[in-house]
Amino acid sequence: MDYIEQAMKLAISTNCQDDRNFFQALKEVLISIKPLMEQHPKYLNHRIIQRIIYPNREIRFKIEWLNDNNQTQVNNGYRIQFNNALGPYKGGVRFHPSVNPDILKFLAFEQIFKNAITGLHIGGAKGGSDFDPKGKSEKEIMKFCQAFMTAFYNSVGSDIDILGGDIGVGEREVGYLFGQYKILTNTYDSIITSKPISLGGSQGRASATGYGLIYFTQTLLENQDETLKGKICTISGSGNVAIHAIEKLYEMGAVPVTCSDSRGAIHDSNGIDLELLKKIKFERRASLEYYAVERKNASYVKKEQYNNNSNYVWEIPCFAAFPCATQNELNAVAAQALINNDVQILAEGANMPTTPEAIDLFVQNNIIFAPAKAANAGGVAVSVLEMSQNNSLNYFSAEEVDQKLRNIMSNIYKDIKTTCDEYDLGMDLISGANILGFKRVADAMIAQGV
Ligand code: NDP
Repeated sequence: MDYIEQAMKLAISTNCQDDRNFFQALKEVLISIKPLMEQHPKYLNHRIIQRIIYPNREIRFKIEWLNDNNQTQVNNGYRIQFNNALGPYKGGVRFHPSVNPDILKFLAFEQIFKNAITGLHIGGAKGGSDFDPKGKSEKEIMKFCQAFMTAFYNSVGSDIDILGGDIGVGEREVGYLFGQYKILTNTYDSIITSKPISLGGSQGRASATGYGLIYFTQTLLENQDETLKGKICTISGSGNVAIHAIEKLYEMGAVPVTCSDSRGAIHDSNGIDLELLKKIKFERRASLEYYAVERKNASYVKKEQYNNNSNYVWEIPCFAAFPCATQNELNAVAAQALINNDVQILAEGANMPTTPEAIDLFVQNNIIFAPAKAANAGGVAVSVLEMSQNNSLNYFSAEEVDQKLRNIMSNIYKDIKTTCDEYDLGMDLISGANILGFKRVADAMIAQGV
């Protein structure tokens, strides 16, 4: 039995059999680090794989809160503190009804390597709750955030575990979580990033993941003597990552023509109206169907009308495609449609948005594939800038943060490409990213002893 089979067997026997997202992420990493394992037996000798696939701590807690009708509500809360070989745990918090231990374990596992790839000294974690923020009043959101932090605050700390935003957790929620921590501990400790500027947040954090995604793509293309200028791009999602990716695409001279939400998708062949999109999603927190009501030339397709469960946005011909909504949102049907329409590059804004079957199709057809752990690392990189600003009380301007973000994304690309060259991987950026991240974590684990 080789190390992949052995590790998968071990993971399946020690986790819930239904942890399919975690197993999917784990298998991808195990397969792609094969060249490293073959050249450096020390990683097998130190049993790094057996050690790295176990989370250090899995915390599960109950969140009780009162809704506006004074009825008691109960939700599940989780934090997976997966690995802290490189530094304190760091990873976002997600509020969405689909949240469960499997989703968070996969996100935390991916976060370990993403954080390592940035070259910064942070470990990997992820947390969240099955709480659904949709349809809740401002007061209910605040009450829930306070109850979440009350149930869990003694497990975080600026040297222990630093939280951040993710799906359903933006500046508003981060502000309430931070406020409750402050009350409970009587400190102004930097235990969460993506804070509003008024609470010590960093300039440019809200836009960092979306902007970073486009900086990474632009660097990659420049190395191929290509550019995004004048190119049609398709995007899924219409949240924090998607909207800022669209904004940066416009700045690069590209033409982003799609977006989507959990209910449907928009195609606007003249280019997405960014101001209207922001108004609908950030101000009104409404469905995208209102976009088509106000932009008569745009088409709106409801989720129920998608072909074979494949988001309508991937049927639109484009040069570059950016899935920016959620995990496993781009399946083989979507990949084939993109390939038939001559897509040149796929860059992941969301975490693990592409199914393994879809990735295989892109690879077989030589489509450049930029994996999430590299392409969407801009958010966590600026979060670390936020932590360092909070600790030093020395704040950067928006321009300084943007310049640092550009450099970080460009360096991430260069480090991955150097790894690809070292292991003769061509443009296999998935393997390059996994080897780079794994090696940094594994070396730190070996250096610390057991
Ligand atoms: P938001 O909550 O701001 O937006 C998520 C978007 O995806 C919304 O448009 C939402 O639709 C849509 N969506 C969510 N779940 C589903 C689903 N099951 N099916 C279809 N559409 C869905 O989240 P972010 O933009 O912050 O995050 C998007 C992705 O990027 C996630 O994978 C996240 O883990 C990843 N990411 C985010 C970072 C950040 O800095 N925010 C950092 C790194 C990665 P609706 O509006 O209807 O809810």
